[in-house]
Parts: sequence; C-alpha cells; structure tokens
Amino acid sequence: QSPLTDFRAAIRTIPDYPKPGILFRDITTLLADPIAFRAAVDALVAPYADQRIRHVAGIEARGFILGGALAHQLTAGFVPIRKKGKLPHETIRVSYDLEYGTDEIELHKDAIKPGERVLLTDDLIATGGTATGAIKLLRELGAEIVAACFVIDLPDLGGAQRIRDLGVDVRTLVS
Ligand code: IMP
Repeated sequence: QSPLTDFRAAIRTIPDYPKPGILFRDITTLLADPIAFRAAVDALVAPYADQRIRHVAGIEARGFILGGALAHQLTAGFVPIRKKGKLPHETIRVSYDLEYGTDEIELHKDAIKPGERVLLTDDLIATGGTATGAIKLLRELGAEIVAACFVIDLPDLGGAQRIRDLGVDVRTLVS
C-alpha cells in the first residue's frame, strides 16, 4: 500500500446490500477519488511493469474499470470476461459457484493466444469462485496467467488462497 493513500478510507461499506446481513464493500467512492484511483492503479501495476503483460483480463463489471486503467498503464491490451450472452463473437463458457446456485461467464475464443501473458483483475475477491472460473477460461485458451490482482480481499472467505493453490500469484491492496 502506498504510504500516502489510505485505500481503506476511500472504500465505503454498505450494510444489508444486496441482502440483509451482507456488508457490501463499495469501491465507487475510491474510483471517484482522483488521488485514490490513481494510487490504486499505480500500486496494482507496480510489480508487473517489467513482466511483459500482453493482456489485462477484467471481470464484468468493476473489473472493466480497473482493467482498462491497468492495461493502459502497462501498455497491454484489455480483454473482457463477461456474464453469459453479452459477448458478440464465438465464446468459451464456464459455470462457477455462487452462494446459492451458479452463474456463467464467457470469454471470446480468439481473445488470447497460447502462451500470451495475462494479468487478471477484479475489484474484490471473496470465495474466489468468480476468479477460479476466469482462470479456467484463460487457461483453456493457453494463457500464461502472471497474477490476479484485486483492490479488496475478504480473507475469511479464503478466495485468495484458493487462487494461489491454482498456482496463480495474488496481489490485493486492502484486506
Ligand atoms: P467471489 O466469486 O465469491 O470471490 O466473489 C467475488 C465477486 O463478487 C466479484 O466479481 C465481486 O465484484 C463480487 N462481490 C462480492 N462481494 C462483494 C462486495 O462486498 N463488494 C463488491 N463486490 C463484491
């Protein structure tokens, strides 16, 4: 974490959203803060500046906002991982576990070529189900996943460890 920027203070917590009992960590306040947004992007890309990242893959929807900024900073391309039915060209699809039930995400088949180096990003990692699905898609195309980075980790839910157990380096700014 940058010593000058308190990322924790820039994130808002909304109780009982989207359901009673849930504490929703809301990064829209961080994104709207010019200093905090830049500092977060700088801190997330710092370890990867010399890592020859070819693509940043962002998970819909908040991962698009971060991912576009990270890609620009790394002079990498941006690749969207979307909820099913949103990508116009041929896709590969994976289902992943939610608290109740499953959902599906997709990636364009031709988005990444075998061996290309990819940085995966999203705003937050909780159980790691979403990121695990994204990793499956990227690996199906032969991507070399250099790391997965998130603004927020909810460590009690174990997601970051699950991703590390898949052999992917994980970097987060706030726990
Ligand atoms: P996971 O699949 O359990 O790791 O949940 C992570 C996904 O759910 C990410 O795409 C997050 O954007 C979203 N998510 C879960 N909890 C929160 C939260 O408190 N704030 C913002 N996004 C969340």
